[in-house]
Amino acid sequence: MKIDKTKSVTMYGMTSFKKVFQTKSVVLCLLTATVFFQIQCSSKKTIVDKEQSLVVKDIFDPSWLEATEGNMPLVISVPHGGLISPAEIPDRTCGTREKDDNTNLLAYQISEAFEKQGKKPFLIVSQIARAKIDLNRDMDEATCENAMMNSTWYQYHKYIEAAISKAVAQYGYALYIDLHGQSHPVKRLELGYTLRKSDLETNSMSTTAIETKSSLQNLLNMTDNQTLKDLLIGENALGTFFASNGYPAVPSLQDPFPKSDEAYFTGGYNTRRYTSLDYPKVFGLQIEANYKVRASEVNRKEFSEAFVTSITDYLGVVETLIK
Ligand SMILES: [Zn+2]
Repeated sequence: MKIDKTKSVTMYGMTSFKKVFQTKSVVLCLLTATVFFQIQCSSKKTIVDKEQSLVVKDIFDPSWLEATEGNMPLVISVPHGGLISPAEIPDRTCGTREKDDNTNLLAYQISEAFEKQGKKPFLIVSQIARAKIDLNRDMDEATCENAMMNSTWYQYHKYIEAAISKAVAQYGYALYIDLHGQSHPVKRLELGYTLRKSDLETNSMSTTAIETKSSLQNLLNMTDNQTLKDLLIGENALGTFFASNGYPAVPSLQDPFPKSDEAYFTGGYNTRRYTSLDYPKVFGLQIEANYKVRASEVNRKEFSEAFVTSITDYLGVVETLIK
C-alpha cells in the first residue's frame, strides 16, 4: 500500500496542518478548537514566540503524527512503529528505545481491509522513532524530560481524545486498541487487558477487584449479566474470535492465560488511560502482534482480513450486550 503523506495527515477537514500552522496560527487555533473540542492553544503560541524555527517546524511536522477520521466505533493508536529520527532531537536516556517493526504498515493494512467493507477505523499513528519519544508512557518517561518533545506528546493524546470523543458521540461507545509488536517465543497475539498473568488465571478472574482493574471495566458497567471471564475467555471474547479465525491469542477460550514462565505484555499507559473511568464509554486493550503477523505484506494482508472479521464479530456481540 502506498501512503500518500499529504492525504494521510488530512484530518477532520484540515488539508494541511503544517501549512496552516506556519502561516495562520490563529486560524489554526480556531479550527483546531472547533474540531478537537478541548485544545489549548497557549502552549503552541509559547513555542512560536521562542523563535526556534527549526524546533517549531519539527515539532509540528505533520509527518510525525498522523490522525485519520473513522466511521465506526473503533480507535486504533500505533505508538512504536515510527522510523523518523531527527538528529536535532537527542535520543531518550530513559526506558527502552526498541521499535515495533511494521506496526504502522499493519495499521494501514487493517484500515484498508475495513475500507473494503465501507468501514474505516479512527487511526492515530506515530511516525517518529521511539528513541525520540515513547508515546505509550506518561509524559516524563515518554520524553525523558526533554521539554522539546512535550508538544508532540500532548498532540498525540489530543488526537486520540478527539477520535474517542467523536466515536462516542456518534456511536455511544468506542473500542480502543493500542497496537504493538512483540517477538516472544510463543507465536500468538498477546491481548493486554491491564491484567497480570496471575489475574488471568480462571480461578481469580471475576472478582470485583480484578474487574475494576481491567481495561474492560467500562464495558462491564455498560452491560448486564456479563462477567469478566465471559469477556476475556468466553465464546464471544475477542481472543476467541482471533483464534477461531486462524490467529492464536491469549487470553481466549482456546488459550485462557499465559503460563507463569511465558513472556506476556499486560497493556501499558495508553490502554490504562483510555479505558479508565475518565472515559466511561470506552473499553479496549493493547494488542501485541507476533512478528509473523507483521513480517511481510502478504502476512499483514492476511492478518488484516482476519482482524476485520474478528472485530466485526466482536462489535456485533458488544452491541447486543450494551444497555
Ligand atoms: Zn510497543
